Amino acid sequence: MREAVGAPAPAGRPGRGRRPGARESILDAIRAAEPLSRVELAKITGLTEAAVSMTVRRLLEEGLVVETGRTPTGGKPRTLLQLDPIARLAVGVHLDEDATTYVLTGQTGGVIARLARPASLGDDRDSILRALAADIDTLLAGSGIDPARCLGVGIVWPGPHSGGTPADDTLPHLRGLRGEELGRQLSETTGWPVLVENDATAAAVGEYWVARVGPDQTFAALYMGGGIGAGIVVEGRAMRGGHASAGEFGHLCLEVFGPECWCGSRGCLEILAGPRTVVTAAREDRIAAAEAGLDPAQPSRTVTADFGAIARAARAGAPHCRALLESSARYVAAAAETVVNLLDIDLVVLTGPGFAAASAIYGPAIMRRLAPADAKTWHRNVTVTVSLAAATASATGAAALVLQSHLRA
Ligand SMILES: [Zn+2]
Repeated sequence: MREAVGAPAPAGRPGRGRRPGARESILDAIRAAEPLSRVELAKITGLTEAAVSMTVRRLLEEGLVVETGRTPTGGKPRTLLQLDPIARLAVGVHLDEDATTYVLTGQTGGVIARLARPASLGDDRDSILRALAADIDTLLAGSGIDPARCLGVGIVWPGPHSGGTPADDTLPHLRGLRGEELGRQLSETTGWPVLVENDATAAAVGEYWVARVGPDQTFAALYMGGGIGAGIVVEGRAMRGGHASAGEFGHLCLEVFGPECWCGSRGCLEILAGPRTVVTAAREDRIAAAEAGLDPAQPSRTVTADFGAIARAARAGAPHCRALLESSARYVAAAAETVVNLLDIDLVVLTGPGFAAASAIYGPAIMRRLAPADAKTWHRNVTVTVSLAAATASATGAAALVLQSHLRA
């Protein structure tokens, strides 16, 4: 977990690799399957009933958990517990190439308020920061919820977050700005603690919160926006790596002698079959361009917008657009198989606007790729699902990261 910028770290913040404590185990268990009784919580978490009772008492005092009636069926009635969805809130901000999305989220992951703006928030850094701060104020004011319940702001955008990045091209209004700097400056402008993360990792955490993935489940969320990446969640925690770059799915090598990638390596998924490559190929194919309504004489709008147009045409049966996506999907599927094999996971979630638009092609391609070796050797039963909230998963995850860092303290 990256430290929140601009605020002292809460006392007792769990360190990397630490096993979850009673408090977070109980909160995660209730989030996944509320309402639950204390007895059920003891069974699910492996804690003693005494430890559950003690921790629940504290959570009730803090208002994080509320009692909600009793078990309806026979035997000794048990009081059921659930989370108070608005006891603690956080703002999530997702800066992407064609939109800036804001959400206000509580500890059950539901979106309480939402705001979207065109990506270009201003012409210089100060005006961008002022616009972000004003939008956050608007979001909170419009929600009607006491801002004192808000713990802070999570802000995410395409990683990596250090050095020169492709985000310089996709997010020119943030050119040259590193994640830590933006977090610090946004914290100074807004007065809120600010936490920064890359959008694919945040999307995975967003899935964990919104989709109610079980607390013990390890899974990968594959994310396609202007680029392609992945977030990996292990026992409810985002795997971040030593440089916050874990899950660079787009830079798995699929062709040893393949073309040079912008990252400096060669044969990467991103350069062979990522959304930018698909859009370039469609623009160079007169028929595909016509199918998708792309005018090669006009500059590209954004990769995400053009990719969405190609996916819509493919869904409507346009053969050239469909062939381009099916070719891309074979590469993505091979890379997904590597992720599944490497992590030994049985859940893959497709998220982000690219997969939201084209999951009907990418999802089956991944399943087809996994099936033969699963049948012959691994005997797994891998599920590939599509996020129900692909458009807001990264923003929700950004808020969830802030909530996690406080609720687990
Ligand atoms: Zn690369």
